[in-house]
Amino acid sequence: MAKILIVEDEVKLARFVELELMHEGYEVDKAHDGRAGLEMAEQGDYALLLLDVMLPGLSGLELLRRLRRSKDTPVIVVTARDAVMDKVTGLDMGADDYITKPFEIEELLARIRATLRARQPAQRAPEEETIASGPLALNISRHEVRYGGEEISLTNREFSLLQTLMQNKELVLTREQLLEKVWGYEWAGDTNVVDVYIRYLRQKIDDHFGVKYLYTVRGVGYAFREAQGEED
Ligand code: CA
Repeated sequence: MAKILIVEDEVKLARFVELELMHEGYEVDKAHDGRAGLEMAEQGDYALLLLDVMLPGLSGLELLRRLRRSKDTPVIVVTARDAVMDKVTGLDMGADDYITKPFEIEELLARIRATLRARQPAQRAPEEETIASGPLALNISRHEVRYGGEEISLTNREFSLLQTLMQNKELVLTREQLLEKVWGYEWAGDTNVVDVYIRYLRQKIDDHFGVKYLYTVRGVGYAFREAQGEED
């Protein structure tokens, strides 16, 4: 399981987050000041750093700046409310994301999952990875979708949505699940956006090729199923 380093001088908060992360199955280390945090981050093999900005010894941003000389470990910066400059500076210096105190643990967990997920493709070996269903083939590494030999032009979001549905073939996914998987935490709007993108995919695949892959399950969500052909 992924190992996370919490760099946070508020001992109680660090302990609370540690327990929550452990409950989610992560391994956790903690540091309570900037210098110890930097040393651990440089020497350890962490999947992610949760990095408070206001730290004794060495500020979180300075820690991040120094860490980036040698390591590309994903970092979520924890800033005080309204510390806009810290967010901007943190992202400029190579943080993957930020979260503002006080935060809900669910939001933190969602951001951690999204950050770990976002880093996955770059770390994965560049092998050819294709998901196919009949003539429809989605090539993850080449970011390409074909039906028969014909290439289907999809936007990044359409591609991610189709990939998610195909990876969960025959399973019904709710709009909320699709939002979480495809749009991630950053989507603050309503779930109608899922319907809109399903419509785009239907136009480009089902309607265009006279097949049916994309099913609406009323009151639940959507499912990708093996194509039934034109008579369906
Ligand atoms: Ca602090």
